[in-house]
Amino acid sequence: MDKQTAENQIKALVELLNQYGYEYYVLDQPSVLDSEYDEKLRELQKLEQEFPELVTVESPTQRVGGAPLDAFKKVQHNVPMLSLGNAFNEDDLRDFARRASNGTDKPVVFVCELKIDGLAISLTYENGKFVRGATRGDGTTGEDITNNLRTIRSIPMTIKEKQTLEVRGEAYMPHKSFLALNEAREKNDEEPFANPRNAAAGSLRQLDPKIAAKRNLDIFLYGVGEWEGNTITSHSGRLEKLKELGFKTNPEWRKCSSIEEVLEFVSYWTEERPNLSYEIDGIVVKVDDLDQQEELGYTAKSPRWAIAYKFPAEEVVTKLREIELSIGRTGVITPTAILDPVKVAGTTVQRASLHNEDLIREQDIRIGDTVVIKKAGDIIPKVVRAVTEQRTGEEQEFHMPTECPACGSELVRLEGEVALRCINPSCPAQLMEGLIHFVSRNAMNIDGLGEKVIIQLFQEKLIHTMADLYRLDKEELLGLDRMGEKSVTNLLEAIEASKENSLERLLFGLGIRFIGAKAAKTLAEEFETMDNLQQASFEDLIAVDEIGDKMADSIVQYFSEDKVTELLNELRHLNLNMEYKGPRKSELAQDTVFTGKTVVLTGKMEEFSRNEAKELIESRGGTVTGSVSKKTDILIAGEDAGSKYDKAQKLGIEIWNEQQLKEAVEG
Ligand SMILES: [Zn+2]
Repeated sequence: MDKQTAENQIKALVELLNQYGYEYYVLDQPSVLDSEYDEKLRELQKLEQEFPELVTVESPTQRVGGAPLDAFKKVQHNVPMLSLGNAFNEDDLRDFARRASNGTDKPVVFVCELKIDGLAISLTYENGKFVRGATRGDGTTGEDITNNLRTIRSIPMTIKEKQTLEVRGEAYMPHKSFLALNEAREKNDEEPFANPRNAAAGSLRQLDPKIAAKRNLDIFLYGVGEWEGNTITSHSGRLEKLKELGFKTNPEWRKCSSIEEVLEFVSYWTEERPNLSYEIDGIVVKVDDLDQQEELGYTAKSPRWAIAYKFPAEEVVTKLREIELSIGRTGVITPTAILDPVKVAGTTVQRASLHNEDLIREQDIRIGDTVVIKKAGDIIPKVVRAVTEQRTGEEQEFHMPTECPACGSELVRLEGEVALRCINPSCPAQLMEGLIHFVSRNAMNIDGLGEKVIIQLFQEKLIHTMADLYRLDKEELLGLDRMGEKSVTNLLEAIEASKENSLERLLFGLGIRFIGAKAAKTLAEEFETMDNLQQASFEDLIAVDEIGDKMADSIVQYFSEDKVTELLNELRHLNLNMEYKGPRKSELAQDTVFTGKTVVLTGKMEEFSRNEAKELIESRGGTVTGSVSKKTDILIAGEDAGSKYDKAQKLGIEIWNEQQLKEAVEG
């Protein structure tokens, strides 16, 4: 194909695919099947591969293009992004409406909109092309997150007219994406996000756009900062125009000519809120007429022509049917309330942790009680209190058992702890939790071995100890639910590869009490082999920085168990690496300029990659952290250093350039 033909074809495909994307992501009205879209996309990819010089920024293949950044650049908002004043009840709303009416001569019309619980962002278009996206930041200065915003498919790369404007909206994570993300995080032993807003913000503040791309974010646009040559005179007119230009706007807005209509809108959405596929935390009310907006003006902090009504935290009532006990990896028994299923803030809740017996006693929660449930941080279900007025006398007080529900051994309360524990090392419930921990991301990091697979393997009696994992064979795995040839091969490869892990992963994976990932790393660095660690005395251990009495005790106790010696011998026999593979302390110079220093890296360096620089500093006894604080000793700044540089200067922290780093490393 000649270049001219290719160019024409690419142009036509990009236009067609962007139209399909608009119908799918913005209008939610796809006109073609996914398979047809995919086919055209492949066609485009093929052409672009053949003629890489013809790839344009508008191409749907370029949504996830940018390389990971070292830091975000700052963006100045020419028109400040102000936050709105809040209303918490009907009276506040009536006051707002009265003040607005008194502040202007003509009658006031309001526009009510859903207040999306996400992250406020600004998108700049020049001559119809998307050029920059930024966070709200402090209202005057935000961060340039263009690459991350490009990954949101409902943000158009070009709009339908060659306009220059800065449009504002809320990026958010739909419920579906949020639940899937948290499920995946929990499987990986990562802290789940507290709510969709945190998840959206966390995703957009990732330096690597590939992460944001995976998070399935969406956006609603609702306002404009600067708009060249615009003559629209009302907020509602702007909303309509934004939609016409190809932006995704929220359809659920309404013009209200009286406060009564506003209150009606508020009460309707207070009820309907759980049926939305995304989180809203209130209603925004704005004066529609832009001249009236100008007339009303601003207070020091927020406009007088708009207010945000916030929903109260939702509390619902349900029955507590039962209190179930779950057993953790370390044997801790946690009571969990089993509830009659009830919808709270958008999701159905059936379980809530009750933490421990003392707390249940304190709150006087009984089995059979009617209880009030709410979501802490709007996501983690919590039993607030029992409705004692509704007791019938049938309710039963809860008592912790004296024996482990899984293995029957006697439970103990360790000194200084509230929790009860099963201390039987062969307790099946603990073994299973221990295996889940062993394969998790910060431990042996075995891909494809999630919680569900472990539970299955355990229940089928294919594994009992960690060593058994390394004895699994293909036939056994093929017998499991949803395990095909390909996933079995991948899984066996991942298990095999984990044998090569550096010592700290195994050490953390063993699940020794009080030994987290960080302590495991310290121990591996210090003792270098499992043998050395097994022979270490209490004194040897506490001589190490960061290892306290409690940890040392726990380690000595752990390695003194015959079962542990046996397990480690088995693992050795199965060829698991038992040595630390990182830079060895014993090989390092005694003292370097970095010893004991906390160092932050920023900007682009010519000679070192970020990782190389980090390793060089760490192997010389320094610690590299991500952000500048009072504890930072040295900031090493490459080209284009941004906010970290400013902050370090402000705090009077020593600042080096790349040359100084090079000299320090070579000297
Ligand atoms: Zn037990």
